[in-house]
Amino acid sequence: MTDLTKLTIAEARDALKKGDFKATELTDAYIHAIEAANPAINAYVAVTADHARKMAKASDERISQKKAGALEGIPLGVKDLYATYDIHTQACSHILDNFKPKYESTVTSNLWADGAVMLGKLNMDEFAMGSSNETSYYGPVINPWRAEGSDEKLVPGGSSGGSAAAVAAHLCAGATATDTGGSIRQPAAFTGTVGIKPTYGRCSRWGIIAFASSLDQAGPIGRDVRDCAILLKSMASFDEKDSTSADMPVPDYEASIGKSVKGMKIGIPKEYRVDGMSEEIMALWQKGIDWLKEAGAEIVNISLPHTKYALPAYYIVAPAEASSNLARYDGVRYGLRVPGKDIIEMYENTRSEGFGHEVKRRILIGTYVLSAGYYDAYYLKAQKVRTLIKQDFDKCFEAGIDAILTPATPTAAFGIADKKLKNDPVAMYLNDIFTVTVNMAGLPGISLPAGLSKNGLPLGLQLIGKPFGEEQLFQTANIIEQAAGKFSPQKWW
Ligand code: GLN
Repeated sequence: MTDLTKLTIAEARDALKKGDFKATELTDAYIHAIEAANPAINAYVAVTADHARKMAKASDERISQKKAGALEGIPLGVKDLYATYDIHTQACSHILDNFKPKYESTVTSNLWADGAVMLGKLNMDEFAMGSSNETSYYGPVINPWRAEGSDEKLVPGGSSGGSAAAVAAHLCAGATATDTGGSIRQPAAFTGTVGIKPTYGRCSRWGIIAFASSLDQAGPIGRDVRDCAILLKSMASFDEKDSTSADMPVPDYEASIGKSVKGMKIGIPKEYRVDGMSEEIMALWQKGIDWLKEAGAEIVNISLPHTKYALPAYYIVAPAEASSNLARYDGVRYGLRVPGKDIIEMYENTRSEGFGHEVKRRILIGTYVLSAGYYDAYYLKAQKVRTLIKQDFDKCFEAGIDAILTPATPTAAFGIADKKLKNDPVAMYLNDIFTVTVNMAGLPGISLPAGLSKNGLPLGLQLIGKPFGEEQLFQTANIIEQAAGKFSPQKWW
């Protein structure tokens, strides 16, 4: 039999229904692939093989009784930020050592209710803070892609680096991820996979460890646009347990695949032509414009004048919310506890040992910008900038723009422990330059591979949609995917 891990979710779903193979066989194929690859790639921080086999067996029973759910028997990986009942859930932080929640996130509950199989928990930047997966307590993830003729280890992007690498290396059929400032879209771009950050409120945040609550959103990473549409349909729901979740029906996103973009208006924002952007990225963007034009879309030059303030404002709002959300990790209720002579010293010891360097930096920044005297100068101002950013987008959509096309990242994947980035956090933060605006405005954004760099690494384009315009994003992304083709790394592991 051909390698079952090669199948997309749509292909596996249809073959399972026809009885071409069993869900248990598909799950076994993935478990074997993980066992062989994980020592090299480090995408999984916990593999739940027995649990997966049990779930797959139950799927086979439901398939034979003609009771298959939308994702029946499909093996998925779960970002370590999602609470999974009685299973390792640590946001890849030392401070949550041995935390096994007695509850399940709404998004993963939805997936299991639709018949999906859980393979394990995926590596990520600690508390989702990072753009390279190097801040994980469990060590970096290695990108399955290598530059042509080189064996240098590259980062898969972050913070959902494990999700993106696992999907690219065929260590799961699809994965859950989260995106606060680009953590679905940037790793998708670095690994030749597709990732969508839905509109804020489309997926419930309940049971997802909070980073910055007004920006966090769950979404899938998949091997193609259709697979992301299938996954999002199951992940999204209204949830009474998350007051920010949207009480709106979830459309059949897969039905958008194959629809024409004739007459759609695609905006090209001039502010995304940033200084020092490489020729390759410029050329890729132009290719995307040409493909959509050929498919009948109208290309419109637009302006989003407050774009340049988005990154600095994000790096105030996100740490501010993080400093508040992370106050709960004090050694009392969960995870690590490092004793001290009294309770204050116990807090201090636990937090200084339990949090990594980047997380501490964010807590310090966040505490500073929220403190008396600085609140108005930083936090309040950043919130006002956020409103202006949102208004820029509102104006374009009111003027009839259906979706906006931009590059996903300013570069292709870079080397592990790249010195410049290691010593300069701002250089690392610049990875998010094209993605943070979308979170600040609460909009949906999809990243998909559109070509290769001259040394053979994947490069991504991003489409930004109107609030709850996910269907148009799938529709438009599929047109680009048809033109660009799909991209897979050469296996070296
Ligand atoms: N790289 C960004 C950060 O470090 C975004 C992270 C995310 O989206 N979770 O904050």
